[in-house]
Amino acid sequence: MDTFVEVLLPIPLERNFTYILPEEMMGEVVTGTRVAVPFGKSKLYTGLAIRLHGERPQAYDPKPVYRVLDTEPLVSAVQLRHWQWVAEYYMCTLGEVFRTAVPSGFLLESETRVLKGPDFNPSPEEATDAEYLVAEALEHQPVLSVQEISDIVDRKNVLPLLHGMLAKGQIRLQERLQEKYNPKTARYIRLREVFRGEAALEALLETLSRAPRQSAIILQLFQLQEGAGKPVRSKVLEEKAGASRAALKALIDKDVLEEYHLEEDRVAVGEEAPDSRLPVLSSHQEQALTAIHTGFESGKPVLLHGVTSSGKTEVYIRLIEEVISAGRQVLYLVPEIAITEQLIRRLQRVFGTRVVVFHSRLNIMERAELWYHVQAGTEKAAVVLGARSSLFLPFADLGLILVDEEHENTYKQFDPAPRYHGRDTAIVLAGFHGADVLLGSATPSIESMYNVRRGKYALARMDRRYGDVLLPDIQLVDLSEQFRKKKMKGRFSEPLHEAIGEVLAARQQVILFQNRRGYAPIVECQSCGHAPQCPNCDVSLTFHKYRGELRCHYCGYHRALEPQCDACGNTTLDTKGFGTEQVEAELKELFPEARVDRMDLDTTRGKYGYQKIIGAFEARETDILVGTQMLTKGLDFRNVALVGIMNADTLLHFPHFRAHERCFQLLTQVAGRSGRTRERGRVLIQTYNPYHQILKQVSTGDYKEMYKEQVYEREQFRYPPVVRIIKITFRHKDYNRVSEGAGWFAKAMRQQFGQAVLGPEFPPVARIRNQYHMNILLKIAQGQPLSQTKNSIKRIHRSFDAISQYRSIRVIYNVDYI
Ligand code: ADP
Ligand code: ZN
Repeated sequence: MDTFVEVLLPIPLERNFTYILPEEMMGEVVTGTRVAVPFGKSKLYTGLAIRLHGERPQAYDPKPVYRVLDTEPLVSAVQLRHWQWVAEYYMCTLGEVFRTAVPSGFLLESETRVLKGPDFNPSPEEATDAEYLVAEALEHQPVLSVQEISDIVDRKNVLPLLHGMLAKGQIRLQERLQEKYNPKTARYIRLREVFRGEAALEALLETLSRAPRQSAIILQLFQLQEGAGKPVRSKVLEEKAGASRAALKALIDKDVLEEYHLEEDRVAVGEEAPDSRLPVLSSHQEQALTAIHTGFESGKPVLLHGVTSSGKTEVYIRLIEEVISAGRQVLYLVPEIAITEQLIRRLQRVFGTRVVVFHSRLNIMERAELWYHVQAGTEKAAVVLGARSSLFLPFADLGLILVDEEHENTYKQFDPAPRYHGRDTAIVLAGFHGADVLLGSATPSIESMYNVRRGKYALARMDRRYGDVLLPDIQLVDLSEQFRKKKMKGRFSEPLHEAIGEVLAARQQVILFQNRRGYAPIVECQSCGHAPQCPNCDVSLTFHKYRGELRCHYCGYHRALEPQCDACGNTTLDTKGFGTEQVEAELKELFPEARVDRMDLDTTRGKYGYQKIIGAFEARETDILVGTQMLTKGLDFRNVALVGIMNADTLLHFPHFRAHERCFQLLTQVAGRSGRTRERGRVLIQTYNPYHQILKQVSTGDYKEMYKEQVYEREQFRYPPVVRIIKITFRHKDYNRVSEGAGWFAKAMRQQFGQAVLGPEFPPVARIRNQYHMNILLKIAQGQPLSQTKNSIKRIHRSFDAISQYRSIRVIYNVDYI
């Protein structure tokens, strides 16, 4: 009887495919093993064995598995169960989860592009014939597809060969974001083989008796090696022996010492000596810790609501310590990894090399290495710090998941599928591992607090800042009054302008927040009213003065700004609104002495963009930092006395049911950067709506009131967390087609769900990259069976796809759209 394997492919298909397992591969495949399989006419894919069985498929003639790629399963049963949950809950295919969950280095396929690797060595002595052929071909043509390589070596299944070469560093894969691969290496030094062993060493020292400096170096090296041949860095030896590079060089030239390079362990992040002494917790922190433990004991996720600078990180560190000393793993989730430099340093000081960072900028090999560490549960991966995608790492035994800044909307994946929420997916994963979950925030999401109120989560609180530093004093500045009284200097009201002057005079620092980048969001002709628009999207182009360009923030389109209006030809162009670039420019005029820096998407693109800006600000090389919401995320600066919000109104008037909640969170978080030590910090919020409830709640730090009002509104208008929402987006380049298709779909849905269906509607920006968008929202009441609802939608979708003119419309599900 034949054995069949059900294989999951990393493509968005609803079902898996079955292959025959050839005799010679028997026993090599279990659930979670990668296999190379043919698909379609001539394609090869890396798939995952899901199940072995004896049922021959009826609908097609199964092809044989080409090759087994793993000796141990790459993916565990727990992971598969987790993926299945993600696919079902977020309405996507398991293949899409597979593709997201596994580093692309594990998923070679015919279309993958291959380049020379860091250890590319085409010498015929060392390489196999096939490896040599590939290497040689890459000498002539720097990029080859897997398909082309397959032709070159004249084998159909080159995936095993390439996986092997990849592991040896002979090739690398082209990544979507091309980046240069620079393996980090350090110089090490050792005695040449012939001098190792006691007798040989003595003889050597004898010959060096007239070169005391050189023998001192040898002795020092011996000590540093701790007898056991521990690798010693050249630099360390130089320092310890007080030796010059020349003395070392002399020994190298004499063939006594040899230098060699070791790749710095790519997985480890730094080498600051760990300082395992933990700070003493304050009584508030102790109380919170107790409440957290009590919550964990009840088996519930715990929400830690601690005001900004209350010292949440120290509490996390305690919990991490407890879990890893019990031999279990910790996943520390952050909304965005790029700006957590400070946090990484803090964690490394305590946990040393037991912390690893799962960074989007890791290259393919580094990701693979980290994967195996996490899977084996090695000490190096005791604590994994990462953004939402680290939820898919193959944890051996998770004991705790921390979700820091749990209110951040970057936890939700927007595109592509799976459109999952990191916080909610974490809670499910923790369930599979029997791990505890702690959600932390100074401004918890309405959802999480709602779950606390309904008894689903437990609560721990810290209402005071660490060291009893006062929360900042927040004042609202009425912009219309300031304009009326002619007190404005550019975009700066008198109180803000004066406050900046005072803070600078006291040699303290200022943060200014404006939630728009560029110089001005709109350029408008004074004569005819024309405003340049993006040719691909329904938005006006933002003016970037520094580059003299108009740019689209949706698709990246840009062109030079001409002095004449495109429409009427007059040179009467003016700008409306303002962004960070304009704030920076005005500051330079108003405070010419001050050192001003800017942090937004435009200034942080380079690899170390953030670190440079944050580092300079920490080192007080910058007096004023202007930025977008990047400034809000958990930064701990010691010397900021003033935070200014340039204009709160765009946040208030954003057309979204969450606008007010977000405004509260954003402003509270930015405000929280002020006065974290010693004196009380100040915050000035400029607005045309100084009597707006939300701004008042921000200024008095009244989370409770904000929560009450927002929940009331959500109940009135039926929005989350009172109901669940599934947003269905329709996308097509033809306006009529998309509106007809979405209309058809909405009608079918109304027959099922009646009033719970909203739309279809065009969003505020209806066309992006020449694609029209239309949305339907479905509100799902509590208690309404979720999987049945989703099945009904899928049934409608199948009928929709059966209509030929609709088939080309893309339908996108966003469950728990935020
Ligand atoms: P949060 O994350 O709640 O905003 P942090 O964890 O950044 O606050 O803590 C604010 C500041 O207080 C940090 O500089 C931190 O080092 C300091 N801090 C917090 N707890 C302690 C403690 N127990 N001992 C010493 N310093 C502490
Ligand atoms: Zn555009």
